[in-house]
Amino acid sequence: MIAILLGPPGAGKGTQAKRLEREHGLKQLSTGDMLRDAVARGTRVGKLARAAMEAGDLVSDDIVVQIIAERITEPDCANGFLLDGFPRTVAQAEALDAMLEDIDRKLDAVVEIAVPEDILMKRITGRFSCAECGAVYNEYFRPPKVSGRCDVCGGTRFVRRKDDNPETVRQRLAAYRAQTEPVLPYYEKKGLLRRVDGEQPIGKVASDIDRALGVEGPAPPAC
Ligand code: AMP
Repeated sequence: MIAILLGPPGAGKGTQAKRLEREHGLKQLSTGDMLRDAVARGTRVGKLARAAMEAGDLVSDDIVVQIIAERITEPDCANGFLLDGFPRTVAQAEALDAMLEDIDRKLDAVVEIAVPEDILMKRITGRFSCAECGAVYNEYFRPPKVSGRCDVCGGTRFVRRKDDNPETVRQRLAAYRAQTEPVLPYYEKKGLLRRVDGEQPIGKVASDIDRALGVEGPAPPAC
């Protein structure tokens, strides 16, 4: 399956994409993670992307399109993949169509995780993750069960994203509104868009996404 998770920053795309990879083997391709890795390693792409990311702006279409075009031809994508954070502009969506055509594949579904803007700020500025295993937490809504210790791996080191500060978040939300929201009607016209209410409890969001992608488990037996 080839699918896309769309939605504003803080909607839960990364959390849900990691879960889908773990539970359903859908390979997560996050352009945000790839770019952060490039910045951390100081590669040419990282140097080009850094300023835009720190300002909360989008990195140029050329850079992200090239990253994805190379990544989707790697062997671990042969059985499909889940795009998280790409496409973010209509030009990227069009480029994705062309790349998939080149490799004779097609997009199966696009899931929008919809969350109103007023609740995103707290979600983003409160979030942090385990430095060891990447498990995601939120100081307001989902702290670790034991303070300072990761529920998943027991790790005690946590990290926050540099761009999760209020000023940059405001700019990231503005970029979403101006540049990414127009991607929704692009996929709606193609009949691929499914909308999930991202304000629901996390388990319900997960099951709605699974249903939208057609990967939900068997229904429990009737008693
Ligand atoms: P994310 O982790 O998806 O929130 O992305 C973090 C940052 O990386 C964004 O604010 C952008 O600066 C950059 N970025 C990630 N994906 C893209 C993309 N598809 N197009 C342009 N910039 C991107």
